[in-house]
Amino acid sequence: MSGTKQAKAFGTHAADKPLEALAIERRSALQHDVEIEILYCGVCHSDLHQARNDWRGTTYPCVPGHEIVGKVTAVGTHVTKFKVGDLAAIGCMVDSCRECEQCKNDLEQFCDASPTYTYNSPDKHLGGQTFGGYSENIVVDEHFVLSVPNNLDLAATAPLLCAGITTYSPLKHWKVGPGSKVGVVGIGGLGHMAVKLAKAMGAYVVAFTTSASKTEEAKRLGADEAVVSTDKEAMKKHGKSLHVVLDTVAAVHDVNMYLNLLKLDGALVLVGLPESALPVQPFNIVSNRRIFTGSSIGGIAETQEMLNFCSEHNIVADIELIDIQHINEGYERMLKGDVRYRFVIDMASLKR
Ligand code: NAP
Ligand code: ZN
Ligand code: ZN
Repeated sequence: MSGTKQAKAFGTHAADKPLEALAIERRSALQHDVEIEILYCGVCHSDLHQARNDWRGTTYPCVPGHEIVGKVTAVGTHVTKFKVGDLAAIGCMVDSCRECEQCKNDLEQFCDASPTYTYNSPDKHLGGQTFGGYSENIVVDEHFVLSVPNNLDLAATAPLLCAGITTYSPLKHWKVGPGSKVGVVGIGGLGHMAVKLAKAMGAYVVAFTTSASKTEEAKRLGADEAVVSTDKEAMKKHGKSLHVVLDTVAAVHDVNMYLNLLKLDGALVLVGLPESALPVQPFNIVSNRRIFTGSSIGGIAETQEMLNFCSEHNIVADIELIDIQHINEGYERMLKGDVRYRFVIDMASLKR
């Protein structure tokens, strides 16, 4: 077993406590490892769910953060893809079994043994749980490290590592392209990326929001139409019109009104992870043979493909850059749907 080093981080000791400065241990780079100095980390609603134990599985202390970009500061002797000084990124996973059918098919997110998530997963090297990107550095096997395109704004690239891949993957899986009509529900971190990506893939995009103030912005992001979902008449007008609906809502909500937007054989793809069940009315899927399904992040190869797609189409997130000391206020604003459209932490603030 090689050594460890202390790293500065920000995290929480309990579901009802704010995030604060704390120290964690990082392993020294092993043969296949890349050590990254974290420059920017996006703030995903999953960070909030996990910090506050919404899914009832959090181990404390919890250091969230899985939209990580930074600079390589050390590499193990067997590393081939990265060298010191390169830009590099980490998303939601830092390991998996690498042997099961899913891992062999580049679907590490569905690893039979469960992937090792970037935070709050059992740490195979140090014991305890993994710690995420609200920290000064991270050490990860190179298989799980992504190359960052050099033509994109670095801070605005960070959210691609979760919000980007989580929306790109189902859009690809459901073959969205020219001729597709796609609905995006919830214009937050994931939703605003879904609008941009679906548009770049050539789809006709309709945004559904609970915030009237976001309709014009959704069009600026690329939506062809934007609908306030509490407007019953407007919702009715879009009934049976869409091939795919991507539901990114972070709280319990009625999915039936979105199932009714689907054409024959259309799919409602859930990516949002509210803390409890979402009842489905049988008639809404039996008629029109509709599909109610879900999707989880994306594999490592597909994440690199998404980054390259974004580089080609000049796509990044719309961000609000914050200091780590403002993370607790950030969480409160995220709960209200009041972020335009992703907070990204300037990790230099951790040193202040
Ligand atoms: P976010 O930035 O907070 O966006 C969620 C959006 O949902 C809000 O901006 C709001 O949009 C809408 N919303 C929130 N509460 C609502 C309510 N009570 N009723 C209706 N709409 C509501 O969150 P995010 O980071 O995009 O994450 C969204 C969800 O995806 C979270 O549950 C997160 O854990 C999950 N997630 C899943 C995966 C995966 O692999 N499947 C990956 C990442 C995140 P409007 O203002 O437009 O209504
Ligand atoms: Zn996330
Ligand atoms: Zn596996």
